[in-house]
Amino acid sequence: MAFKGQIVVDTDRCKGCGLCVEACPMHVIELSKHVNGKGYNYSEPVKEGCIGCASCALICPDGVISVYKVKC
Ligand code: SF4
Ligand code: SF4
Repeated sequence: MAFKGQIVVDTDRCKGCGLCVEACPMHVIELSKHVNGKGYNYSEPVKEGCIGCASCALICPDGVISVYKVKC
């Protein structure tokens, strides 16, 4: 059975540091043009292609990214 990755960002807690954007080997994360309640441009997945490697979650200083594997 095939799986793909999926991330969920707790956008209210994101500081917009961009480390996850740089860490993603598939380049599926970008900083939003919109800001959260603290005024930070939060990160978000912008396209398909996540492989569930968890690099983004591991590098996030605030642990606000959850990684899931879902059936294709
Ligand atoms: S789990 Fe891996 S592929 Fe998916 S968004 Fe995070 S760094 Fe990118
Ligand atoms: S590494 Fe964490 S705090 Fe930094 S932009 Fe990504 S989700 Fe936000």
